[in-house]
Amino acid sequence: MPQNEADIALIGLAVMGQNLILNMNDKGYVVCAFNRTVSKVEEFLKNEAKGTKVIGATSLDDMVSKLKRPRKIVLLVKAGFAVDEFVKKLIPLLSKGDIIIDGGNSQYLDTQKWCKDLSGTGILYVGMGVSGGEDGARYGPSLMPGGHPAAWPHIKEIFQAICAKANDEPCCDWVGEDGAGHFVKMVHNGIEYGDMQLICEAYHLMKDVIGIEQDEMAKVFDEWNKGELDSFLIEITRDILKYKDSDGKYLLPKIRDTAGQKGTGKWTGISALEYGVPVTLIGEAVFSRCLSALKDERLEASKVLPGSGHKFTGDKVAFLEDLRRALYASKLISYAQGFMLLREAAKVNKWNLNYGSIALMWRGGCIIRSAFLGNIKDAFTKNPQLTNLLLDPFFSERISSAQSSLRTVVAQAALVGVPAPALSAALAFYDGYRSGVLPANLLQAQRDYFGAHTYELLHNPGQFIHTNWTGHG
Ligand code: NAP
Repeated sequence: MPQNEADIALIGLAVMGQNLILNMNDKGYVVCAFNRTVSKVEEFLKNEAKGTKVIGATSLDDMVSKLKRPRKIVLLVKAGFAVDEFVKKLIPLLSKGDIIIDGGNSQYLDTQKWCKDLSGTGILYVGMGVSGGEDGARYGPSLMPGGHPAAWPHIKEIFQAICAKANDEPCCDWVGEDGAGHFVKMVHNGIEYGDMQLICEAYHLMKDVIGIEQDEMAKVFDEWNKGELDSFLIEITRDILKYKDSDGKYLLPKIRDTAGQKGTGKWTGISALEYGVPVTLIGEAVFSRCLSALKDERLEASKVLPGSGHKFTGDKVAFLEDLRRALYASKLISYAQGFMLLREAAKVNKWNLNYGSIALMWRGGCIIRSAFLGNIKDAFTKNPQLTNLLLDPFFSERISSAQSSLRTVVAQAALVGVPAPALSAALAFYDGYRSGVLPANLLQAQRDYFGAHTYELLHNPGQFIHTNWTGHG
């Protein structure tokens, strides 16, 4: 291979990197592969990449020398330390206009920092959210690039070629400056936590409130997937419910009921607290995983703490329809909260986010892909200034008709004693958001009583006063 012939380099030959390289190769690009453990480059070329145009490098110098200018280098390595190490080693090897693209699940603050640190060097830094797992990387991921805007014209063609398409539109567009791409990916992952938790609660309620069998549940999810809940996660839940082990028995009930996490849901919750946005449903989804992890403690508590004696006596078919509508309403509330967080972060960081285009990027290729995201895209396309998804006419009509089902489901869950934290959080948020008056008047008074924090009067906002509540001097 002559020098300067590769279109792009990719560092990180684990599952995501290998698949993204093969995807780029399919689309006609010459990719140069590199990895910290250099022996993996040769193995990859001999096995997975055999017969392709992919080339390998023996060192970072070798890799850089094989690239066309401006050089484009994708990192798909562990977030944090590994990214930092590679960027530091690449800086002296690159020139003005060259582009580093971090495609891992890095924290947006790290990406922001690298954009800032490299701003004087002329090296263009991009933080790109990649979603869709192994299959997405291989056949069309959702890609969310953000960072130095001068990089976009040079990388647009290649990333829009390899990404997923929804109605022939690429699920990849420029998100915004510095950490915007990784922030949007983080919120995507948070929403994924919320969607998964909502589905788990629906499964739990089917099992322990109305007591239907697993084959029946699979049929319900199959039906749901044909309507407004049509999505990748509902589809895989149907398949998981149907799956039987080698002994002919369902596999799902044999799986231990404790869930792990890698951190992006937690980061969304932390960001929500930092930006002061009530992203309650994702928060509950993260805490539900934490509670699930306390398996031994829960087993002990189950022997001591009583539950409810209430049994469901209603109509099972009607309850299933309420559950479907409750799931839809809660999902809508969760997305509304996610977009509220995006809007606030955009304001603080001066990102010019295009919410319709974000919905389109999530519409295909990624884990939360769904028909519903097409409706969200339409809502923001119709009104880019929309303050809240719940106020869009299409969605406000749907939430108005589904809210009574959400109340029925949350009430039944509470009566029978089956936890439904995400569904309950959705309803509490809905009722709070639609309330012209909340009890924070009392909260203001309490704060002023014990800490002289002052308060505002309804008729005089912006004017802070203090009252001596006890009459003591
Ligand atoms: P991974 O297991 O997260 O990372 C493995 C890669 O990182 C290997 O190339 C490894 O090199 C390199 N690496 C680890 N520690 C390093 C260090 N200290 N210095 C230099 N290199 C180091 O791989 P992955 O699952 O393919 O994910 C890659 C990135 O994409 C991650 O940020 C991940 O969070 C993100 N992501 C993953 C998925 C998914 O479904 N897996 C989906 C979306 C995004 P060696 O071979 O030398 O160990």
